[in-house]
Amino acid sequence: MVRASNAIDDVCEALNRRNPGESEFLQAAGEVLERLEPLLDRQPELASHGLLLRLCEPERQIIFRVPWQDDRGEVHVNRGFRVEFNSALGPYKGGLRFDPDLDLSTVKFLAFEQTFKNALTGLSIGGAKGGADFDPKGRSEGEVMRFCQSFMTELLRHLGEQTDVPAGDIGVGTREIGWLFGQYKRITNRYESGVLTGKGLNWGGSPGREQATGQGVVLFLQRMLEHAGSSAEGRTAVVSGSGNVALHAIEQLGRLGVTVVACSDSDGVVVDRDGIDVDLLRRVKEVDRDRLTAYAAGRPRAEHRPGGNIWDVPCELALPCATQNELTGTDAKALVANGCIAVAEGANMPSTPDAVGVFEAAGTSFAPGKAANAGGVAVSALEMQQNAMRASWTLADVEERLASIMDAIHDECARTAEEFDRPGDYVAGANIAGFRRVAEAMSALGII
Ligand code: NDP
Repeated sequence: MVRASNAIDDVCEALNRRNPGESEFLQAAGEVLERLEPLLDRQPELASHGLLLRLCEPERQIIFRVPWQDDRGEVHVNRGFRVEFNSALGPYKGGLRFDPDLDLSTVKFLAFEQTFKNALTGLSIGGAKGGADFDPKGRSEGEVMRFCQSFMTELLRHLGEQTDVPAGDIGVGTREIGWLFGQYKRITNRYESGVLTGKGLNWGGSPGREQATGQGVVLFLQRMLEHAGSSAEGRTAVVSGSGNVALHAIEQLGRLGVTVVACSDSDGVVVDRDGIDVDLLRRVKEVDRDRLTAYAAGRPRAEHRPGGNIWDVPCELALPCATQNELTGTDAKALVANGCIAVAEGANMPSTPDAVGVFEAAGTSFAPGKAANAGGVAVSALEMQQNAMRASWTLADVEERLASIMDAIHDECARTAEEFDRPGDYVAGANIAGFRRVAEAMSALGII
């Protein structure tokens, strides 16, 4: 019998050899694999038939040209990606990201993470991710629309309600999903609502989808604090980012009586000790599509710190909701020194492995993104169910389902961590529970 630790080492070595330079993908894969030893010691069959190697290789990777013309008629060429990582549990599902730094390594890491996140929801969805190295910042509506149309013209041949169902992510919100869906409908001549999620409410979207990720992170955090005999009420928090996830996390924290004293964007940090004003933030970011300097201008007591580090702002709760590897070991030490008791990841893999190690050593409660931010994809799956039934549920219905899904994910992670003698270790709990569900399905489906 091959020892679990040897099987894991062999796979890590093969991944390093086969994916040179793909640092984010290797980081994400390493984080999952290194937590699996206790499970594979008990269930060695989950590592047989090359399962680990198969699990770490995407089922399909699509890279394509996206040509488009700007408002002056100049031609630009971007690169589009879709990584369909794993469909053992259901059709591929995962967002699209428009970000000038996007490359295959980032899309692969996101698709890999998505596979386990989707498994944790308990719903029948596989994992994928995609996007383009397109920068929507500073582009007119017409330019972004033409880009979306060109992107979808190529991507659509890979999509389908039973095949692959994208949603939004960084740089892709309801507006972009509308233009993508419009082009899909135009070319296929089919009103196939279930082919994209994150749609507008009057054309097939689900109430509650827009806020689901941010809300879900806070629901998870609340449950985790309760589990540790604590609570969120009356505490202070910082939330990085000011996009979809951050905005709705801030709003939900406010409902719990938490004061959010800082948020950020890629230019800097705004510190508002009176508590971030969500209505103003929403207007600045979603309506005016402006920067946080405009927020600070509307709040005389708020301070804008260009290039500042949000993790230096003292708080009891920290929610990284911007991007990957935004919270380093040094940042984690600053948070712990300033009295932070809990961290919940709204973004995907925002904490570096060093940072996770600091939180573990300090006994800081830590909710990893693949569990804590699963609310968005869970409600996307509910949107698919409504589309399939040609039904529309109420906001109250969806919120109730979201709350029970987040509770179930929390409890499964906590229970699994305890089962493997790691009480309170949500990283181990999430990785083992997510992996086990995918691996058992893969075993049942044969060597494919
Ligand atoms: P948005 O595009 O709506 O917002 C991203 C926010 O992060 C913006 O405020 C952006 O600022 C900021 N940001 C980006 N890079 C940096 C940086 N280096 N430092 C500080 N701020 C930065 O994206 P989402 O809110 O949708 O996504 C945020 C994260 O959550 C991503 O990791 C995404 O994968 C994850 N996620 C999203 C889900 C969803 O449903 N949308 C579901 C699950 C996870 P600026 O405007 O200046 O670029």
